[in-house]
Amino acid sequence: MIFRFFILFYIRFTLPLQMNMMENLIGEVHRPGRIEVVCGSMFSGKTEELIRRMKRAKFAKQRVEIFKPSIDVRYSEENVVSHDHNAIHSTPIDSSSSILLLADDIDVVGIDEAQFLDDGLIDVCNTLANRGVRVIIAGLDMDYQGHPFGPIPALCAIADEVTKVHAICVKCGALAYVSHRLVKNDKRVLLGEKDEYEPLCRECYQKAIEAEKKQNTK
Ligand code: ZN
Repeated sequence: MIFRFFILFYIRFTLPLQMNMMENLIGEVHRPGRIEVVCGSMFSGKTEELIRRMKRAKFAKQRVEIFKPSIDVRYSEENVVSHDHNAIHSTPIDSSSSILLLADDIDVVGIDEAQFLDDGLIDVCNTLANRGVRVIIAGLDMDYQGHPFGPIPALCAIADEVTKVHAICVKCGALAYVSHRLVKNDKRVLLGEKDEYEPLCRECYQKAIEAEKKQNTK
């Protein structure tokens, strides 16, 4: 009888309390500064994921600000606009050091297309996180040749949490790993969209590179 009473008491009062505490632990409020990286190839939804996290924080009345390199003017100077036009206001910057000056009193700092920023970004993100700021970085992990891109690999190393997102290979439907460049241009930075790049898996990328080599030797 007493045992049954304790079981009922536990289910009625103690369990909900514990679950409530769990909710707080996994929630977004009162969490210390941290660095989150969302990386992957083009068309993998990196910016969409950054915007989702930023909007969630904004709903929770946190002060948010998105920065992006001024080099990326594909859609709009003032907005981070992803491929589905789900826009959120952003501030264009020329150098990573500008973030420290502009991010005073900000709870959540978002950085889009971070692969185009300088290596100083690594120290900047550490400084912000140590101050208690949540830093969310989105960027390409590899360039069109499959080489690690800009400060992203180092940011993955110092991050508290890394999310690798994938596009779908346009040739076979497997998970893509690289953004294959469709136009002939050896410059590392070539801003483009669907006409310039296609997401490919490792196997289809190797085939595409072989085909291009054959084409060039003809
Ligand atoms: Zn494929």
